[in-house]
Amino acid sequence: MPDCLFCEIVAGRVPSVIVGETEATLSFMDINPVNPGHVLTVPKRHSTDMWEMDAEAFAELAAAAHEVARRVRRVLRPEGVNMFMANGAAAGQTVFHAHVHTIPRWPGDGWIDPSWVAAPGDPDEIAAIGERLRAPR
Ligand code: 5GP
Ligand code: ZN
Repeated sequence: MPDCLFCEIVAGRVPSVIVGETEATLSFMDINPVNPGHVLTVPKRHSTDMWEMDAEAFAELAAAAHEVARRVRRVLRPEGVNMFMANGAAAGQTVFHAHVHTIPRWPGDGWIDPSWVAAPGDPDEIAAIGERLRAPR
């Protein structure tokens, strides 16, 4: 896709520090790391977000990110790892080529955590939404 930063990185036209590659994915260091060792894993084929990926493409992305997280743990020895994906601007997505963040974590590393305030929900609403989301058996 023209004008897509991560497509340019996949094509090698924009430099990046690559840490892993599979047939379908590329993993490279984030240039604005939340913590040292922050890695992004992207599908090589342009997809704006996970909604544009089928289950197979998403599974390949997840497997590659899983391998990155294993390596981050082995090499950097963090005490935890956060993995996340922003899908849509409302979710914080700023680069519109699907990507999974792998972020090593240490106590007191400064990342406000958790970033939401957990409070008990309305049990009726939880049950009703669960009913709407439940997969048919
Ligand atoms: P998002 O906010 O869309 O979930 O994450 C986009 C990520 O891409 C950010 O963490 C940002 O630091 C990273 N990023 C933006 N531009 C570049 C770039 O040119 N190279 C690399 N390696 N990462 C980038
Ligand atoms: Zn792209």
